[in-house]
Amino acid sequence: MKKMYRYILTVLATLCLAGCDDLFPSMDDFSELDSEGIGIPSQQKPNMKVDTIVFSQNYKTFDIATKILRDIGPYLLEDSSRVKVHVSEKTNGIERTKRSTPILTRIENTEGLAIDKHDIRMLALVDLTLPQPVLNEIRKKIINAKSLFINDNLYVAFMDGQKVSESMPTSPYVMDNYFKHSSEEYVYLYRSMLQKKYEMINGQKPWENCNKLVLLTFSDGMLYADDSDEPIDPDHYLFEEEMVKEDPSIQDKFLAFYANCNKNDMEIDDHSNNVLWLFCSKNGGNYMEQFNLIELEDKTFKAFNIKSPSNIFHFINPNFKVYRGGKNKLTVDFLDAKTDSIFASFTADIVKGSIYAPIIVNGLSLPVVLIQGIVLCFFCMLVVWLVMQLLVPYIRYRIFLKKHVTDYTGNNMSWENQPVKESCYYCKAPFEIGEKIVVKCEHTMHKSCWDENGHHCPEYSDHCKNGSHYYNSKNIYDTHNASFYLVWIMMAFMAALESWICFTLFASLNGRIDLLPSFGLTTAFFLTLSISTLAISMRNLKHAIMNILLKSVVASIGSFILFYLTNSIIDSFGLSEYNTFFTWIPWTLMGYLIALCSTYGTRIPLRKSLIGLSAIIGFLSMYVWSAIFFDSEVDFRVLLLFSFLIFSVGLMLCIAYAAPRSDRYFLKVEGAVKTMDVALYKWFRNNPGRVVTIGKSVDCSLQLSWDLKGYVAPIHAEIHMEDECLYLIAREKGVYIEGKAVNVDKKEWLYHGKMFTIGNTSFTYIEKDR
Ligand SMILES: [Zn+2]
Ligand SMILES: [Zn+2]
Repeated sequence: MKKMYRYILTVLATLCLAGCDDLFPSMDDFSELDSEGIGIPSQQKPNMKVDTIVFSQNYKTFDIATKILRDIGPYLLEDSSRVKVHVSEKTNGIERTKRSTPILTRIENTEGLAIDKHDIRMLALVDLTLPQPVLNEIRKKIINAKSLFINDNLYVAFMDGQKVSESMPTSPYVMDNYFKHSSEEYVYLYRSMLQKKYEMINGQKPWENCNKLVLLTFSDGMLYADDSDEPIDPDHYLFEEEMVKEDPSIQDKFLAFYANCNKNDMEIDDHSNNVLWLFCSKNGGNYMEQFNLIELEDKTFKAFNIKSPSNIFHFINPNFKVYRGGKNKLTVDFLDAKTDSIFASFTADIVKGSIYAPIIVNGLSLPVVLIQGIVLCFFCMLVVWLVMQLLVPYIRYRIFLKKHVTDYTGNNMSWENQPVKESCYYCKAPFEIGEKIVVKCEHTMHKSCWDENGHHCPEYSDHCKNGSHYYNSKNIYDTHNASFYLVWIMMAFMAALESWICFTLFASLNGRIDLLPSFGLTTAFFLTLSISTLAISMRNLKHAIMNILLKSVVASIGSFILFYLTNSIIDSFGLSEYNTFFTWIPWTLMGYLIALCSTYGTRIPLRKSLIGLSAIIGFLSMYVWSAIFFDSEVDFRVLLLFSFLIFSVGLMLCIAYAAPRSDRYFLKVEGAVKTMDVALYKWFRNNPGRVVTIGKSVDCSLQLSWDLKGYVAPIHAEIHMEDECLYLIAREKGVYIEGKAVNVDKKEWLYHGKMFTIGNTSFTYIEKDR
């Protein structure tokens, strides 16, 4: 029971939340402002770009490939000890709860893997005569580059004076201890660069068997000693010539990059800059005024003909997650584990499914969905029944007892400032002191007489409007105890459940094609069936089954066409973006169509207000349909039941409101006499076996004494009641139903609006409200 309670709560909360979804579409803007104002510093625009989003077939998992746009610093995204990942998702601007947000399961450093797979090795050649702060900068940049060169394929070597060190792996020890400013003033730049180039292309240690080599030089490009035109290197010109030589044999094997570290605005002559620029461009690389890892990576991948996104993020969707065509904005932020500051982020826009053809991730199996829906529906019905059949009538009864039932205190008794009669209106016996009496209308009665007379005053209805309070305390299950609306609501629940089951079955068979017309088909059929059943009154049901079925089929096909046409129009004009602006039309028209079909030819007048109301109900349930929230533990298809329920119950109540409350039927007599309504129901109420006779004889129930010219036999016709149905039986010739002669002794069923004539008098059978 507790679980059920929680379940219902979830559903209700979900519905409430759903309301907010569409009511405030501009929430998106606000929350975005928020996230910029508080969360991410404004300069931290996403520095990763989404390349592709690929879903698995059942939408349980998906992969997002991204490209890094700007340097993200010394982080390896997949290094969970240093990097925290925060995934959030908004649907139409509403933040989703954790439960329905996809979980990031794995980060694949595809770039790093590609570099490793293609065995690209890079050497960073560092000029140690640079100032210490610059060296520190370079050291940081090389550490950053390790997020690409993940598997010990990044080396470092140092130029210091005339020497150049061996190429060393970028081990923590090297990185911590070698970046020390040298006391030397200059380096042999060209010579060192060329030495390293040949070391690499000749496959010396550690470049054995490697044919994708990258040389990256960090230097200030100083080639001449201060105040001197003489190059530092005695063999300068020899090496200079060597630098600008082109070598086609190593074109796809060796790349050279140069990062200018001349921070002191020291003048370097254009000539030497040109030499360095030529060296890089002839070797497939770039001369960079400032080191840029992304640029280096792009160029390298292009040169070696490698295509790869930066990272692939593997996500897993929670079960029951629903994609309904709304805009899902998935934001992934990467935070420094220590400082909690965001250093990288990307946003992926995901639009999948549609309102009427949603995608459910690992939804429940069909039988489970059906069982859940049926249980849920019956639970709601039980609650409604308990309240309307037991709780409310009991409370009203207590109020009735308090306000209108009292002990008789004797002559001159007054009740609410009115003198109380001294005898019972029903049994005529004088009241005795202490007896329970009912003082609800002017006809004061014994409480026992009140109950015996069917819990109302004998004059109730025509002459006494207040004289009724029905409560059968001996049998609390008496259907008359409950409100008149209960049976309508119960029928609506059943109709909703039936159409929901059909719709769900249809949807599962039909895949994702045009579900809406089938919604119209099933809902209109079952609702029209239920409403017409009630509208026709139980008394006449068995005669009207074909009639009811026909109406249901008409409404059903009509609704199918309505939705089908709307869908076709939306499709052919490419208006699917404005789906919600158009689909309310068939919804509301369907409401009207059902109301029209089910009340046609019945005692329920199709009032103008009814048209408006059914339109509102249609609109409202469409709104609920499109707004049902996805952020719940309940399968989306089960939640849809609520849309069916709202539509059914709402429409049913509209029609019930217009329907006659009491079971009252009359014969309207017109012709040679002043028009009058004869209350047949009074004659049959306490005596269903009675026969109402019509004729000239004084013994007839209805004596046609006024018809002097026409032929009327002493007993011309009779009205019987059988199984709650009324029948007309002609006992003589000369009875006409709608102009056609009726065979003598043949039973003719009387239903609302049926007219027959005897002589010059016409009779119309009507069922009506008070
Ligand atoms: Zn009495
Ligand atoms: Zn009365």
